[in-house]
Amino acid sequence: MAKRFPGIEWFCDNCDASLDDQPGFDDSCGTWQCTQCGCMNTISDDYIFESQEDYHGWLDNQIAMQEAAEEDPYGERLSVEDAALIWAYSGEDEDRMFGYTEEELREALQ
Ligand SMILES: [Zn+2]
Repeated sequence: MAKRFPGIEWFCDNCDASLDDQPGFDDSCGTWQCTQCGCMNTISDDYIFESQEDYHGWLDNQIAMQEAAEEDPYGERLSVEDAALIWAYSGEDEDRMFGYTEEELREALQ
């Protein structure tokens, strides 16, 4: 079957496992549950990064923006999808829930 994103390698947001190597993985699936850690990954062009470094840089940037926004009551709130990614990435750190509940974050990862 033709790949929807040719040349793109997919990695788990949570454990960095290569999703392409997981049995049954198809990049047109929209979301994929990592067979190693069970984390849901969004497979879309919003989340394509040049490298793992870029991806981690993006996350660090989101975290920095959010920390700045917390000090500014009129700042933009992180979307629940992005908050959930960061939360999962940081090992479900309760300091990284960005005002969302664990339930909301888990739902966004589904
Ligand atoms: Zn995983």
